[in-house]
Amino acid sequence: MKRMLLWGLVAVSLSVGFTRRFDRDKVLHVKPQDESQVNFVKYLSSIVQLDFWRPDSAHAIVPQMDVDFRVGAYQTENIQTLLEQNGMQYEILFQNVQEGIEKQFDGKPNSSNRRHSYSKYNKWEKIVAWTANIAAKYPDLVSRTQIGTTTEERPMYLLKVGKGSVKKAIFIDCGIHAREWISPAFCQWFVNEATKTYGKNKLMTKLLNRLTFYVLPVLNIDGYVWTWTADRMWRKNRSNSSNTNCIGTDLNRNFDSAWCTIGSSDDSCSEIYCGPAAESEKETKAVANFIRHNIQSIKAYLSFHSYSQMLLYPYSYTYELAPTHDELNNVAKAAVDALSSLYSTKYKYGPSASTIYPTSGSSDDWAYDEGIKYSFTFELRDRGKYGFLLPENLIKPTCEETMLAVKNISSYILRYVS
Ligand SMILES: [Zn+2]
Repeated sequence: MKRMLLWGLVAVSLSVGFTRRFDRDKVLHVKPQDESQVNFVKYLSSIVQLDFWRPDSAHAIVPQMDVDFRVGAYQTENIQTLLEQNGMQYEILFQNVQEGIEKQFDGKPNSSNRRHSYSKYNKWEKIVAWTANIAAKYPDLVSRTQIGTTTEERPMYLLKVGKGSVKKAIFIDCGIHAREWISPAFCQWFVNEATKTYGKNKLMTKLLNRLTFYVLPVLNIDGYVWTWTADRMWRKNRSNSSNTNCIGTDLNRNFDSAWCTIGSSDDSCSEIYCGPAAESEKETKAVANFIRHNIQSIKAYLSFHSYSQMLLYPYSYTYELAPTHDELNNVAKAAVDALSSLYSTKYKYGPSASTIYPTSGSSDDWAYDEGIKYSFTFELRDRGKYGFLLPENLIKPTCEETMLAVKNISSYILRYVS
């Protein structure tokens, strides 16, 4: 009873705007050298709650992998001692996560008079107002439709960007994982760049004349709102479909592609919980339905995540190469070359399972198996220095270079795909 009361209090305090703090939490980086070190990190995660930033769960760790995780303030000393006793080298990426959270903002964080800005992180209220404004400002190029509602009944707005009626289309989504803030920032940047340079930049003009871009600025809206109001480190959506104490399904494990097999969990408390069934989540369902209804026109699917600087393509759920692997690899290479040409940012590319780690129920595999042969997942900047807490001054360079990759893939679709 006491426990229930306590839970009740926590729930009430969360709902009235309690924001979780991360004072003196640390983020550590390790690179397990062999199986025994891998097992040791997995063992640590079984005795202490570690928040894995990269990879997204302990299960995915293999030798020589870059592993970043957040440790609660009260456990940091223990964990560091245990690592040292076991001869494991580690690096401290954040001494104080709370400070990192505050430092990602230029100027004052969270101040309510911050206007929508492409080089800042915008709250959902600002993004939703922006979707209406940009459609109103460029009626010939942008229109807004609703493809569904989220668990918490927020409208899921999709922007259709392009001149005239629907032609060959590219579907772009951002923000499947709530805490990866650079991702929604990119979707907004993309729409702005497209509208602003139409009629001025030759390539963009051609792309918008001959292609349609469907842009979903935030897929996991409830989770994104939660990262602003309650818990900056939230990843999943906010549904309680498991009817347990644990909230949230990992939407990038909820698509109907080898659902809930490899690299995902049926434990509702896990960060990679696959949900009670494939497409059980309203957000997944809305996206999958939209894509199915428009499958004839959608030629490419691009999904944006962070972090680790990778451009990935199917498959995630198997190490087997996709039937069109060679072409995907060529397209990825060209896109990465274009991206790197601006600031020399290094990207890895390749099939997800072997390049990052195997997962199932991911959106890119699902889209590919539905027949969208050009299906890519971006893991944007950085490679761990700031991780999910990429400072606002890096939004611009990150988005600029990513634009080059997206334009490169789009040109390929325009030229070679019928
Ligand atoms: Zn992600």
